[in-house]
Amino acid sequence: MSSAIRAVRGMNDILPGESDKWGYFEDTIRTWLATYGYRNLRTPVVEQTDLFVRSIGSVTDIVEKEMYTFIDHLNGEQLTLRPEGTASCVRAVIEHNLLYTGPQRLYYSGPMFRHERPQKGRYRQFHQVGVEALGFAGPDIDAEHIIMCARLWRLLDITPVRLEIGTLGNLESRTIYRARLINYLERFTDQLDEDARRRLHSNPLRILDSKNPAVQELLKDAPRLFDDLDEESLAHFESLQTILRNRGVDFTINPRLVRGLDYYNRTVFEWVSDRLGAQGTICAGGRYDGLIAQVGGKPAPACGFAMGIERILALMADLNGIYTANRPDVYVVHQGEMATGFAWEVAEYLRDQGVKVILHNGAGAFKGQMKKADASGAQFAAIIGDDEAQVRKISLKPLREPAEQVSVDMAEISILVRKINPTKN
Ligand code: ATP
Ligand code: MG
Repeated sequence: MSSAIRAVRGMNDILPGESDKWGYFEDTIRTWLATYGYRNLRTPVVEQTDLFVRSIGSVTDIVEKEMYTFIDHLNGEQLTLRPEGTASCVRAVIEHNLLYTGPQRLYYSGPMFRHERPQKGRYRQFHQVGVEALGFAGPDIDAEHIIMCARLWRLLDITPVRLEIGTLGNLESRTIYRARLINYLERFTDQLDEDARRRLHSNPLRILDSKNPAVQELLKDAPRLFDDLDEESLAHFESLQTILRNRGVDFTINPRLVRGLDYYNRTVFEWVSDRLGAQGTICAGGRYDGLIAQVGGKPAPACGFAMGIERILALMADLNGIYTANRPDVYVVHQGEMATGFAWEVAEYLRDQGVKVILHNGAGAFKGQMKKADASGAQFAAIIGDDEAQVRKISLKPLREPAEQVSVDMAEISILVRKINPTKN
């Protein structure tokens, strides 16, 4: 026998027990996004490699070493599995001229691919929900994004999550700062690690994001971008803070906050949980006014954020019985020829009513079927023998509470299910 084939390292199966939780999360965010007026955009998982090089920047972790890139041997095109969603969103918005009708509130969700070292909270295929507001310039939309995140953490019951905000200013202020930072760090080249040394002249701002404690120590006395900020960026940042304060959203200002991607300007923010160890950032975003033009569109301001679904799910409690949206309401147990015919009829009738039903497949003694009913997580077992089928009655046995078994007809079952599960229509 040949050895069994396994999933690709760093890429996970999501098994039914766990996917109940995913389903609960997805239902929650769909409603949450709708309440803020965001609409779904679905793009392919594969794009031209150039899209990511141009948008994310060639001197970034992602483009330097994390992309799954391959040649399409049929036509020689160089393609990449998307490592993030903003580039595709911007490409689609330009390609379909979506801004023609005015600014857009959009969201996407799905798998992303990065060739990283797999560990808890860091995978090679992981999932993000991303929100993008394109064509909006004011700080009120930056604030909307942060405020809607705060609401989501409450909805999912994963508070406390810390908010850090910062600003990167405009391109000119960053250019001035860049020179000052290089100047400072050049005095310590021998103390920089390999990554930092390599970035010193190509992308020095990324050094601020270094996870190396020795480098972080050096940065304590480094010049601060805040001191080079332009007036307009400063005013933008002040307004954002005012709105957050008025809405009662707590934050800390982190002057060293830079995003892993090159395309950000002005507002940057991160939501961090202290319960996840090193992989504590569950959501990150900010403003990227230059990106649309950089990808070839007519210049337009924009901002957005993306959250890592695996990290958020890890924060959600494993409360049995809460994420049960996909469990059946009724498990139909049947024995006998006439009973089986009636069982089919009952099951289809209940599904017409929106009741979730598993019809026992195959034969088997009642006892074995009842065990399966119990294991399915259903609220009720509907028991049908030939005697019941004769009179079109069903013995309905509650499985999750010590109530009595009752003899009912089809219509009564759907009424009873609704009584214990009032969310049913
Ligand atoms: P990190 O510093 O942890 O590598 P990042 O800056 O690369 O994060 P972003 O590109 O901003 O992350 O992605 C947004 C969010 O997506 C992150 O805050 C995180 O929650 C999640 N995320 C990013 N990479 C991974 C991964 N490899 N596995 C799981 N989640 C991830
Ligand atoms: Mg990363």
